[in-house]
Amino acid sequence: MKISTITNWAYAVTVALTALSGASFIMSSRNAVEERVAVEEHLTLDVLAEELALGAEVRSDEARLYVMRGEERHLQAFHAKEEAERQREASAARLVSYGLPPAETQALDDIARDAEELDKIEASAIQAFQGGDKAHAQEILFGAEHERLQSALLQTVSHFRDLTAARTGSQLAAARASSDWWSLIAKIMLGMTGALFLAVLYFILRRRVTMPLTRMTGIVGRLAKQDYTVEILPDLRRDEIGEMNEAIEIFRANGIEKERLDAERQADQRTKDLILEMMHRLQACHNQGELAGVVARLAPEIFPDLSGGLYILNESRTTLIGAALWQQPKHAGDSLPASSCWGLRRGRPHISGVHDTDVPCQHLDGAKVSALCVPLTAQGEMIGLLYLEKNAEGTIELTNSRLYLELIAENVGLAIANLQLREKLTEFAIRDPLTGLFNRRHLEETLQTRLADHPKEPLACLMIDIDHFKRFNDQFGHDAGDMVMRHVGQILRESVGEAGSAYRFGGEEFTVLLPDYDEQGGAEYAEAIRRKVNSTTLSYAGQMIGTVSVSIGVAASSEGGSGETIVSRADAALLTAKAEGRNRVVVTAR
Ligand code: GH3
Ligand code: MG
Ligand code: MG
Repeated sequence: MKISTITNWAYAVTVALTALSGASFIMSSRNAVEERVAVEEHLTLDVLAEELALGAEVRSDEARLYVMRGEERHLQAFHAKEEAERQREASAARLVSYGLPPAETQALDDIARDAEELDKIEASAIQAFQGGDKAHAQEILFGAEHERLQSALLQTVSHFRDLTAARTGSQLAAARASSDWWSLIAKIMLGMTGALFLAVLYFILRRRVTMPLTRMTGIVGRLAKQDYTVEILPDLRRDEIGEMNEAIEIFRANGIEKERLDAERQADQRTKDLILEMMHRLQACHNQGELAGVVARLAPEIFPDLSGGLYILNESRTTLIGAALWQQPKHAGDSLPASSCWGLRRGRPHISGVHDTDVPCQHLDGAKVSALCVPLTAQGEMIGLLYLEKNAEGTIELTNSRLYLELIAENVGLAIANLQLREKLTEFAIRDPLTGLFNRRHLEETLQTRLADHPKEPLACLMIDIDHFKRFNDQFGHDAGDMVMRHVGQILRESVGEAGSAYRFGGEEFTVLLPDYDEQGGAEYAEAIRRKVNSTTLSYAGQMIGTVSVSIGVAASSEGGSGETIVSRADAALLTAKAEGRNRVVVTAR
């Protein structure tokens, strides 16, 4: 039951009890009035009876004085008293008419009768005295009959007074008992009202003050320990407790908001830290493969709600080749046509699927997905694409992370551009520009590494020299000589393929390294090369140059031998081949 209902009921019951108590007090006081009326009536009757008795006595005295002295004033006094007597009798008659009990009415009648009889004999005595019979008159007034009648009158009056006294006494007792009863009821009602008031007061203090305060103390204690899961029941009261509850609710809401902001700030800081970590690692990558690995590893850490891919434009700039994919993006393959991406076409980050108004990228094939394509650029040149799509269960919106994603893309782009530049420089450093073969410096490095890493593995080294090359220069010009050099270089590259590597040693001399080949295998390989070179007739600028031949010296690695040793042994074999007439293969003796 609601407290307001309880208090309303208590109020109604209190009012009713108070009203009943008031009514009981009124009833009690009415009995007091009845008591007073009974007493007054008793007094009236008593005085009347007293006066009746006294009047009769005074009249008898006046009549006796008259018959004794014969003075007229006593006769007049007798008559005056007689008149007063009449009036009292009339009053008594009126009282009777108000309704006295029959016994009292009877007693009053007896008084009147006795008074009447007394009057009669006193009147007859006065009459006898006036008739001159003084002795008879005195005999009547002092005689036994007069005495009897007078005593009878006094007795009747006394009886009447006893009756009225007894009746008044019982009336008073009844009125007092009734008054006491009503007074008791009134007191009980008052007591009940007081008890009810105290009970309601206790109940309200307990329910409305003590209990809410105890609850609030617990809540404030938990809030102080930053436990914002504590439940605060709504309290719509407009009193201090209600206001306090409201203040605690606001305090809790502020705490929750602060906690949310703290969590957001921490998450943001973590994102920044991870991005910084990613940038440091990107700077330390040696090649694009490593870089793609770093991006694929850290991107899901930074944005767990996003899948994605890193794409790099191919040399012809028509296709985006996937370098890394993470968290299985549903709408990204191993490669994409460059023209299918609006981000790449516009050279700006492009969001698909978030705003229905914007055109989605074609590589999404019309799929309803929130995707962001950030082109990777470096010094104004497009080099790739960072593709991101929101996971089905992801909660964070792409647009919220857009700034960070663009920052990542910018750094990834720069890092890729740096690596590409470094790769180009490395290429320049290790390749011969004329033939496209590796240069001598790279040969030395490769030999050193190979012999250090695999000292016991076989390795064949071929030293190749174009026969009478000077002749081409002299006869057809330096450019023709260059063309012959490129031609031999191409044959070497094609022949070696994956089996080994070809180098321009210097001038018109070349070296081929064949890992896992011994002298015999190397010699066979050399013979195949020699034949291939010798099988083609060359022409330059419309002039027939003729066939080109090469002499080849072959050496294989020997245990403990250095790179220089193997090369010099192959060179020695080459010299032998030259000496033996050129266009041949000579294997060095161990
Ligand atoms: P041999 O059969 O004994 O090897 O005779 P050869 O003429 O091939 O050897 P020689 O050492 O006498 O001549 C090599 C010539 O190659 C000398 C040089 O001018 C020429 N040469 C070296 N480098 C280049 C180059 O890059 N381009 C051109 N066109 N000629 C070069
Ligand atoms: Mg030479
Ligand atoms: Mg030569």
